[in-house]
Amino acid sequence: MRKIERYDPLKIERIASHYAEILADLGEDPTRDGLLKTPERVAKSLQFLTHGYDLKPEEILRSAMFKEEYSQMVVVKDIEVYSMCEHHLLPFFGKAHIAYIPNGHIVGLSKIPRVVEAYSRRLQVQERLTNEIRDCIQKTLAPLGVAVVIECKHLCMSMRGIQKQNSVTTTSAFTGAFANERTRSEFLTLITASLD
Ligand SMILES: [Zn+2]
Repeated sequence: MRKIERYDPLKIERIASHYAEILADLGEDPTRDGLLKTPERVAKSLQFLTHGYDLKPEEILRSAMFKEEYSQMVVVKDIEVYSMCEHHLLPFFGKAHIAYIPNGHIVGLSKIPRVVEAYSRRLQVQERLTNEIRDCIQKTLAPLGVAVVIECKHLCMSMRGIQKQNSVTTTSAFTGAFANERTRSEFLTLITASLD
């Protein structure tokens, strides 16, 4: 994954000054050695973790659409997801599995993970993330159907609150041909099958 090194210096400075106050409010000394550069590091990190706001997922797909007669299910599975829960500003992370059935057009395979990146690198809830990815692919590529399954661990669940350490949240969203139970179960079989 490309690292975004373009930071908005004004924004960084403002976010950093807020974080210096937060550190003080937490009872810390923001001027001690280990914390001196923390506000700036956090500000840069946050800007990276939300760089999806600057990406245009529909354009990403449109940049690599090809006319093709292939009409079987295309599955891209185990796409890494790193996102931030908008309720607690804590990470949630895991995997996305995505399929579509072409209707005259296919899309460059590397673009599917980039769509995931564009929507996950924002403040999110897993449910909306799932739907946004589905809707973007459906609207842009107009396939016969789209399937999205996302499995994530949420630090806001495991580090705080109910502390169910290892629970995984699964969300799914389907369109078109995936309303058909046989098509959907073919997809589910493909994403659970391993290559070994
Ligand atoms: Zn949360």
